This record gives sequence, C-alpha cells and structure tokens, in this order.
Amino acid sequence: MYIKDNLASVENNISAACIRSGRNRDEVTLIAVSKTKPVEMIRECIDCGITVFGENKAQELRDKQAVITDELHWNFIGHLQRNKVKYLVENVDLIHSVDSYKLALAINEEAKKKNVICNILIEVNVAQEESKFGVTVDATEDLIKEIAKLENVRIKGLMTIAPYVDNPEDNRPHFAKLRKLLVDINSKNIDNIDMNVLSMGMTGDYEVAIEEGATMVRVGTGIFGERYYS
Ligand SMILES: *Cc1c(COP(=O)(O)O)cnc(C)c1O
Repeated sequence: MYIKDNLASVENNISAACIRSGRNRDEVTLIAVSKTKPVEMIRECIDCGITVFGENKAQELRDKQAVITDELHWNFIGHLQRNKVKYLVENVDLIHSVDSYKLALAINEEAKKKNVICNILIEVNVAQEESKFGVTVDATEDLIKEIAKLENVRIKGLMTIAPYVDNPEDNRPHFAKLRKLLVDINSKNIDNIDMNVLSMGMTGDYEVAIEEGATMVRVGTGIFGERYYS
C-alpha cells in the first residue's frame, strides 16, 4: 500500500507549496511518472484518483495503453525521435519534449494526417547542461515563432528538466528563468502563441518549482519508489 501513502505525502507537499506561494491547488497538475513501473502500480494510482500519467518511451506507452483502457491523460515526457511520432499523436494529451523545428514538423504532418491538433511544450535547457536535450534560452523565441506557423500543432507552454542536485534551492533560479521566458515570449504577441503551461519540477525539487510558478510537476520516484533499470 505504499503508493497510497506516497501519493498522500506528495499531495500534502504540493498543497503546502501552493499555500506558501499564494497559489490555488488547482493551478498545479501532478503528473505521475510511471516509466519502468508495472501496470499494477499504475492501477494503484488510478484507485487513488490519479488520472494524469507520464511516460518517456513510445513503445512502453503503447504497451501500457493496450492494457489500461481507463479514460486517462497520458503525457509524453521523453526524448522523441521523429519515427516514433506516429505512435504518440492522438494517444497523448501533451508532448513535453519538442526541441527542434524538424520534430515539430513531423508532429504537424502526423496530426494533419489524423485531422487532429497536437498539443506540445517546448523543452528548454535552462541550465545549459551539455548532457541534456532542449533548446537554449536564447533560441527559444525564434523556434516558437517558426513552430507557431504549423496549423496542426499547438504550443501550450515550456518544459525543463533541471539538473540533479542535492539541494533543491539550487534549481530555483532555473525555474524562475523558465517562467520569465514564458512571460517574455507571451508579451511579444506572436500569432497563435498564448502559453500557460510550465512543466517543471521532479521528485527532488517540485515544491520549489511550484513556488516559482510550475503548472505541471512530474513526479516519479516520490510516488512509485526508485526505478531499476536492467
Ligand atoms: C523520469 C522523469 C521524471 C521523474 O523523475 P523523478 O525524479 O523520479 O521524479 C520527470 N521528468 C522527466 C522528463 C523524466 O524523464
């Protein structure tokens, strides 16, 4: 039963962070990041009332969706190759990890084929870590201007994966920077661009992220426990 307890404590932490920063709890969506975790654990979450899940592999997402047919909100949070786009459009609510025009174009083509609009976030490498995917802060506005012209893709906001740190306070400046970037770009009044999603904060730092304006936090370990990769 530990998932239930973990969820209760994450929920407490989210509420407390909202209160500290004068925000309403309903401004923040908790995404349960279920990657590598079995279907039974996802079911436990669903039994606790969770409906929003995050996965980072197209194949794993497909396999899980094949057996979990509940009405859920799936989010794709992993690095995405263009040849996998066809598995995601229509099957996810939101793709968090778009960091190139080429990828956005592939999503747009697939969405057009299926006659749907695909919601995406632009992944920004705010901390400028060499190992990370994501567009640089400086290149974000130009990328958004280009993608904004694609008819079957809608940019809902920005996402970042902050560095792994011992002290979550170390990531506060990165979260603040992503928020400022969103506000700055919105103020440019680019056609088709009115972003309101900030996907930032993971198990180690989601409370700080909420204090800095996160509207989506992606929590895996804090709900499901450590991941084991074979
Ligand atoms: C795995 C992952 C998470 C969850 O990480 P935890 O530290 O386990 O909460 C969040 N976001 C992305 C993009 C991930 O790949």
